[in-house]
Amino acid sequence: MNEVQAEEWRKRFPYLKETWIRQRGRGSPAEGTFFPVSRTPHPNDLLKIMPSSLGERLLKSRLEIMPTKRMAGTASGTEGNVIGLSTLGVHDFFHEIGHFIWINELTPARKKEYAKLVGAHNARRLFGKEPRDRHNDTEEHFARNVQNVLMLRKLEKASGPAKASELLQFMKKIGVIDDEHVRHFYANAGAPFTFHAGSMEKVSEADGENGVFYREARKVRQLIEERQRLRAAERLR
Ligand SMILES: [Zn+2]
Repeated sequence: MNEVQAEEWRKRFPYLKETWIRQRGRGSPAEGTFFPVSRTPHPNDLLKIMPSSLGERLLKSRLEIMPTKRMAGTASGTEGNVIGLSTLGVHDFFHEIGHFIWINELTPARKKEYAKLVGAHNARRLFGKEPRDRHNDTEEHFARNVQNVLMLRKLEKASGPAKASELLQFMKKIGVIDDEHVRHFYANAGAPFTFHAGSMEKVSEADGENGVFYREARKVRQLIEERQRLRAAERLR
């Protein structure tokens, strides 16, 4: 998103700024200098990466972002319209936005559509024969893929032949990404644009690797800004 919208975000969700200040930590450099604690990403990098279309929509939604009620410094979580973000949990920010969208914005029909696309058993479970838990949960799968697509990473599938283009189409239809972000995705994710996590073990691995840390966020932000600069220069020519 552009700087004007990012400023609106920081006004509407002041906790994003607060986590940034807390993250500066003890003995950190001068005011305004970011100090990445535990490799956590800078919230401003994440805002820059988020497509304006999604940024705009979430500004108008019932979304609230607060400190997590869970143990400090551990996981983030989403309940209803509230994302509880831990100071060390900014690496889950896009993942939690995925939960927010699943819980608040997707109809049962859309959830079924997603499940079918990624080869899940149904809108609740990925694998019909396994008990339902964190690694057998279609909502968690969706949250990981929201984080994946926003970070221009390969998309996760449980099974089946769905192409990346169909998944991107779905993400576009529900307003997670726009055409510009689709182009960024193809420029960065690298073929094949999807990967299979077809067992609880594989899902556990994908889950463990879903977090977004400082260096990756910085890199993707720079990639997007560079592409925007090139595009602007082409328009001027
Ligand atoms: Zn989750």
